[in-house]
Amino acid sequence: MRFHDAHNHLQDERFAGRQGELVAASRALGVARMVVNGSCEADWPQVGALAREFTNFVVPSFGLHPWHVGGRTPHWREALVELLDATPGAVVGEIGLDRWKPGLAYAGQEEVFVGQLRLATERNVAASIHCLQAWGRLLELLQTNPRPARGFLLHSYGGPAEMVVPLVKLGAHFSFPGYFMHERKARQREAFKLVPAERLLIETDAPDQLLPDRANALPLGDASTGKSLNHPANLPAVYQFMAELRGEPLATLVAQIEGNFCQLFGVAPRD
Ligand SMILES: [Zn+2]
Repeated sequence: MRFHDAHNHLQDERFAGRQGELVAASRALGVARMVVNGSCEADWPQVGALAREFTNFVVPSFGLHPWHVGGRTPHWREALVELLDATPGAVVGEIGLDRWKPGLAYAGQEEVFVGQLRLATERNVAASIHCLQAWGRLLELLQTNPRPARGFLLHSYGGPAEMVVPLVKLGAHFSFPGYFMHERKARQREAFKLVPAERLLIETDAPDQLLPDRANALPLGDASTGKSLNHPANLPAVYQFMAELRGEPLATLVAQIEGNFCQLFGVAPRD
């Protein structure tokens, strides 16, 4: 079976140079592709390098994450445009809005988000969107700005169930992270029951959004802090959980997600 990770951060420095080993372990368990999201100007070159090293496996995605809006340089936009133009198959993300993170300024986030959504729209490539505690504004901005014709991804969708239908109308796809397998994430799982099959994706968000211990077959530690990291090869376990949640055979879900992934991210299905 071929599993597709709609969202992770393989370039993350907490992986400390172990990327080759993580990719090999993921491939061995059937992972066919992963979208690797840059989040700031400093990590974009590493995302580009991973896409060159792991061709037809890493889908490179470049964006300025809301947590890094305050640290952007005056040239961030030109640098992003240059990378999108120069990198084959590049998509936009991670971008978004965040009113949850303590101490994070909201000023500037909307302008940076809308500007990047526009870059994705002009190129008709997917945009991967992070949103925490700003769902009302996100919906308004999506309704009043141009959006990529091929659609966009709401990664780790944790918004209200009532917003699924209006977001679907705008072109939203929704990716489910292993973190929502935790008992306490029942509200988020309910929202996912309303997502149409053709708009559903699965993600790890590795190294973040750790699975519950019972499902985490691949324990991985951050060598410098000792904290647990989410291994990208945990992806098949998240698929298994979703197949059970939807009450359908794993093979059916795998085929559906592969089609959704290839359409949204503009890649050809693997042989
Ligand atoms: Zn992310």
